[in-house]
Amino acid sequence: MAQPDSKKIFFENLSGAGKAIAVLTSGGDAQGMNAAVRAVVRMGLYVGAKVYFIHEGYQGMVDGGENIKEASWESVSSMLQVGGTVIGSARCKEFRTHEGRLKAAHNLVQHGITNLCVIGGDGSLTGANLFREEWSGLLTELVEQGLIEADAVQKYSALHIVGMVGSIDNDFCGTDMTIGTDSALHRIIEVVDAIMTTAQSHQRTFVLEVMGRHCGYLALVSALACGADWVLIPEMPPEDGWEDKMCQKLSATRSRGTRLNIIIVAEGAIDRHGKPITSSLVKDLVVKCLGFDTRVTILGHVQRGGTPSAFDRILASRMGVEAVLALLETTANTPACVVSLCGNQSVRLPLMECVQMTQEVQKAMDEKRFEEAVRLRGRSFENNLKTYKLLAHRKPESELPVSNFNVAVLNVGAPAAGMNAAVRSAIRVGISEGHKMFAVSDGFEGFSKGQIKEIKWADVGGWTGQGGSLLGTKRTLPAKHIDKIAEQMQKHNINALLIVGGFETCDRIKQSASGTKRRVFIIETMGGYCGYLASVGGLAAGADAAYIYEEPFDIRDLQANVEHLTEKMKTSIQRGLVLRNENSNENYTTDFIYQLYSEEGKGVFDSRKNVLGHMQQGGAPSPFDRNFGTKISAKAMQWVTKKLVETFRHDEGRVFANGEDSCCLLGMRRRALVFQPVVQLKDQTDFVHRIPKEQWWLKLRPLMKILAKYKTSYDVSDSGQLEHVVRNRPKESDASVAM
Ligand code: ADP
Repeated sequence: MAQPDSKKIFFENLSGAGKAIAVLTSGGDAQGMNAAVRAVVRMGLYVGAKVYFIHEGYQGMVDGGENIKEASWESVSSMLQVGGTVIGSARCKEFRTHEGRLKAAHNLVQHGITNLCVIGGDGSLTGANLFREEWSGLLTELVEQGLIEADAVQKYSALHIVGMVGSIDNDFCGTDMTIGTDSALHRIIEVVDAIMTTAQSHQRTFVLEVMGRHCGYLALVSALACGADWVLIPEMPPEDGWEDKMCQKLSATRSRGTRLNIIIVAEGAIDRHGKPITSSLVKDLVVKCLGFDTRVTILGHVQRGGTPSAFDRILASRMGVEAVLALLETTANTPACVVSLCGNQSVRLPLMECVQMTQEVQKAMDEKRFEEAVRLRGRSFENNLKTYKLLAHRKPESELPVSNFNVAVLNVGAPAAGMNAAVRSAIRVGISEGHKMFAVSDGFEGFSKGQIKEIKWADVGGWTGQGGSLLGTKRTLPAKHIDKIAEQMQKHNINALLIVGGFETCDRIKQSASGTKRRVFIIETMGGYCGYLASVGGLAAGADAAYIYEEPFDIRDLQANVEHLTEKMKTSIQRGLVLRNENSNENYTTDFIYQLYSEEGKGVFDSRKNVLGHMQQGGAPSPFDRNFGTKISAKAMQWVTKKLVETFRHDEGRVFANGEDSCCLLGMRRRALVFQPVVQLKDQTDFVHRIPKEQWWLKLRPLMKILAKYKTSYDVSDSGQLEHVVRNRPKESDASVAM
């Protein structure tokens, strides 16, 4: 745990002393922008810099005065969980003019600000870059006009810029996720889930229009996450004659008994000739061709609203910290950069290359080079599209290949949200690849008892949104019934097994901070010995401490944390949040910690405890889990097919699975999805505690402490070096919403 008196020397070469950093939000608002502002302010103060808010975006910078205010640690308290942007955003015509930018430069120089952190879309970032290029000229002009002293040109010679992309549309090239996109997906999926329940009562078709301007990301990923029947996006307009095809598909699903059809339309959807496809056009089409009861829902600003998701809070917090580091490391010769996420790594990318590539997508769409548009959006986008196509469009049986392989799917371990999405995707991809698919119920125990039967395409319809495990899962280990399981495998001639489950699988927790005064909440999280939920939940909720097994703590740490909270109660921030993983320490139990804080906090704060328990495994899966489960499982199934074909011996008519890679775990590592032989994983696993020996997210823990005002060291190696190869390296990770 943190040692406030730690002798560790941090950021020796990265001091912000004497520097002034300003942060602003510009363009459309997005959930999570506040978390980014908070992180910039706190990290800025942490490294010893002065930090300023610029209210109302570029307008505030041009107008100056009260719009530019120094920020304090407390001024960003209780901001993490608020949607929109607290410091205000605006569109500003004046900043597009030279005069406007001259005024803005004057205002910045008056505060000694030469570091600017801009949170906005590509328009805002383009403006920032232009401002940076003009900076020294603007200063010279200001001197000529007698508005600033002549030595200011030298003193404030360079303006450093770092961008963070805040946009619900996810329309920016170079980053897997922009701040706000995940929250917008949450809003969309909440609406889809709500619609599904009412629509089941009637037989209905829903046409849902989602935002995204000229980017189809929200529409595509929503369609993936709810298993929509049809999706229309600008990057890949449907082939001519799509109207008939869509109606045929709807009528086919209806004849198979589906009561509900969902069509998702991106607001910028067009046909092959560039003509807009609107939601009302789609509705009229369905009514005219099929006579179905059809309703249109246009989601609008609901998508920008609500509290930011855990993912957006973490993304924005990481980006904010990284942005400050980038500013400290910038020299006059480094190009302006954006901090972004690639897989689960933070990276820095040259701002203008990303902006140009983003504009190229639009150009490609305008010029009807659609394949190119999809490619330019990046690998993650391409992969979403590919997976959607694979799963949504069922080929007639006569057109399916016949592989003669039998593949079984089962769930093991604790149920986790997203498991059903993974099973659905595995089954459908398996069927498309020509395999006969089997479902095993109740894990290995059910398998040993012969609870296995063939499963068809339609059997998994509607599974993506359901929580828990529809197949049924048990914790029983296979070793217990290995003979019986082997017998079943033989009996059903199973050539491959796809297992969804693991040591401890849990959905992310949602933890909302409370406005109550002088109170410390002590929350126990699940995870077995794995402290991921406590740590990452802590980062998302702005916790003061997170006790986990992987980072041993002792009485001195507990003391330091209690004292830290006591100090904090003296400021205007009078709330504390402490997370404790269920198995973090056998003696310092949740009760012990609660009692310790209660006793030590007497007269200063009171404490409450809450054991989250099984609600963490329950509920409907988040869009991330649905999407991730779907994509990872599709990938796994395709890999199984490849391996089956490779290891099949025609002379003997059998599959020989004796190589190391005949049993692999598919998971995300840094930027890529990796199949790793389980044998190799053995060395990397702590079997006693059922966790990996190395936990990648441990490096995020110092962030939580820094943002909670502890002095701690932060391994700067986490921060990416500027990468120059955007063009050659379109989004590398295909797990687009990875953390
Ligand atoms: P977004 O940042 O969400 O793409 P806009 O394109 O509306 O939103 O840009 C927001 C603001 O950024 C604009 O109102 C303007 O003040 C500034 N801006 C955008 N493009 C430029 C530009 N080319 N030059 C100068 N300022 C710009």
